[in-house]
Amino acid sequence: MAKKGRVFSGARPTGRQHLGNYLGAIKNYVALQDTYDSVYCIVDVHALTTVETTENLKQNTFEMALDWLAAGIRPDESILFVQSHVPEVMELHTYLSMVTPFGKLTDLPTFKEKVRQQPENVNYGLLGYPVLMTADIVLYKTDIVPVGIDQAPHIEFARETVRSFNYRFNTKVLIEPQVKHTEVLKVVGIDGKDKMSKSLNNHIELASTAEETTKRVREMVTDPARQRKTDPGNPDICNVFTMHKIFSPQEEVDMINVECRRAGIGCVDCKLRFANNLNKDLEPFRAKRADLESKPSYVQDILNDGGKRARAIAQQTMSEVREAMQLP
Ligand code: ADP
Repeated sequence: MAKKGRVFSGARPTGRQHLGNYLGAIKNYVALQDTYDSVYCIVDVHALTTVETTENLKQNTFEMALDWLAAGIRPDESILFVQSHVPEVMELHTYLSMVTPFGKLTDLPTFKEKVRQQPENVNYGLLGYPVLMTADIVLYKTDIVPVGIDQAPHIEFARETVRSFNYRFNTKVLIEPQVKHTEVLKVVGIDGKDKMSKSLNNHIELASTAEETTKRVREMVTDPARQRKTDPGNPDICNVFTMHKIFSPQEEVDMINVECRRAGIGCVDCKLRFANNLNKDLEPFRAKRADLESKPSYVQDILNDGGKRARAIAQQTMSEVREAMQLP
């Protein structure tokens, strides 16, 4: 079947992926493969903006590849690769930086947040992150970028950068990408408050065992106004209920919706039901992941092969870019 266009997305090698990554991004990576030519990248160079040491980079890349493949990325059809295997992206980053106003980068909320998070390491790469991200995307002539809502300003930045570049060099060589979110825009962590994130340690890893997952789910914060089992709860503001709506059968969701409000079901029971449904859902993922984990050279071959295929596209784009720029 002819594909509608190209999808690209990337994420830093943060190791084992969590439910937020899955529901906010990976689920779309998998779904879009059916209709789009898909390119998925583990952006190890981006990771250098925040990591203090690179000693875990290889392992984290491997863990992430395992998660993405086990979740359903099909490496024979789609391209799965590591950013640094395609050095053309650094060249495009440099060219794009010439049409990027400095003030625009310093104004980005994501940059300001990073400055707050790591004031001792405000490096140049951190400032240029959105430019490199734009290069990642446009190098593959991408139409659609599936990412979580937190990344939306970066995609808008990429679109503006493409317009500036094309205008400056009077060309149409670069394509403006469109952002695509999943229906779950922001997965909240087990604290019931903040975005699920590894750095906040409020996450549930996809690759945990069923026992570990159940333990984590039991720690989830529910409706804070509900102190005792006999108090009626409000599912509309409860993160456990939000998760039930994603992972539980409709009859169970309907039952909880009614029973929670009249204190007919307690939070512990409700969480155990969610944990069971989540574990059931993740069973095939875990089996596939364990199998892949036992074949590290097979996974490495996938990444190497993906790198070669990605590089062929990148080299073609770069020759068009250099020509458009009239580089001697
Ligand atoms: P990066 O900073 O490299 O994007 P992250 O691990 O923060 O790495 O995110 C990877 C992908 O998962 C991104 O598309 C991001 O938007 C999405 N994501 C991460 N956490 C959440 C969350 N809690 N809810 C929804 N989407 C999320």
